[in-house]
Amino acid sequence: MSLDISIIVPLKNEEESLPELVAWIDRVMQAHHFSYEVWMVDDGSTDNSWQVIQQLAAQNKNIKGIKFQRNYGKSAALNEGFRAAQGNVVITMDADLQDSPDEVPELYRMIVEDGYDVVSGWKKKRFDNTFTKNLPSKLYNYTTTKMSGVALHDMNCGLKSYRKKVVKSIEVYGEMHRYIPVIAKWNGFRNIGEKVVEHRARKYGVTKFGLERFINGFLDLASIMFISKFGKRPMHLFGALGTLFFLVGFLIAFYLGFAKIFYDQYNMTDRPIFYLALVAMVIGSQLFLTGFIGELVARNATERNTYLVETRLEQKD
Ligand code: UDP
Ligand code: MG
Repeated sequence: MSLDISIIVPLKNEEESLPELVAWIDRVMQAHHFSYEVWMVDDGSTDNSWQVIQQLAAQNKNIKGIKFQRNYGKSAALNEGFRAAQGNVVITMDADLQDSPDEVPELYRMIVEDGYDVVSGWKKKRFDNTFTKNLPSKLYNYTTTKMSGVALHDMNCGLKSYRKKVVKSIEVYGEMHRYIPVIAKWNGFRNIGEKVVEHRARKYGVTKFGLERFINGFLDLASIMFISKFGKRPMHLFGALGTLFFLVGFLIAFYLGFAKIFYDQYNMTDRPIFYLALVAMVIGSQLFLTGFIGELVARNATERNTYLVETRLEQKD
């Protein structure tokens, strides 16, 4: 039997929210007669989240769990959920009750009826800190839209829906969960929509994301865009240019030094040239190192997930 909806909930230390969230999701799914599954991905919680998931899964066979060996981040959690999902439409939702399950039916409908590949939530009215969240988020959305050509007001909203084949085509790691619509578009899924969603204040627990992860996200996007656009060639150019600079500098300095030591042919007018040669050597090494760092970045960004799943919880019929 084909399943209508898979809901993926990445979570870390959200024990208080989970029972309420599951009850709410179940209520909405029943009311709309959806067949569904919920994948709760426990991303290394240190509270009782996993025990709560076990209880919830025992009471309702639609509730399924994945427990990571340790904390790997929201991207890895979503990635594992994407792999496990069987539903025709896949919905991601934060665990902290900031996203409302009441939005799910419309997010589902926009995929199956309106033909969107991805529908991204837009928290038009936000209940978060202005300086650490709302303002940086505006700046981030503006820049990301300009850089990627995917125009969304709220790229990083945790509440999104996807056509199944979109999530099966995607791998997210690092801080890349912030850019899933961009990756989807690169993979050729052009129909990317947006829906204003209700955003609620966090009821229990604390936020796990601050400014620092935000900056990491930017670097991730920059490196992946750079690589997808130019490949690794610019790094090689830096390396080659650096080597050239260094060699020319070295030859001049060597020549002048040689002339001085063996033939004593050295006068004060040569001195600026000698210094220039040294500067060229320094610039050359710097450029070479830039290329080297670029190379490391490139390799790092093309690296894939290496997380470990500790337990998987799924009741078979
Ligand atoms: N989360 C996660 N792994 C982490 C950090 C967070 O799975 O390393 C989950 C978290 O439990 C929540 C969602 O990601 O379900 C969004 O996190 P949070 O609510 O802290 O972010 P905010 O809403 O403040 O941006
Ligand atoms: Mg939250």
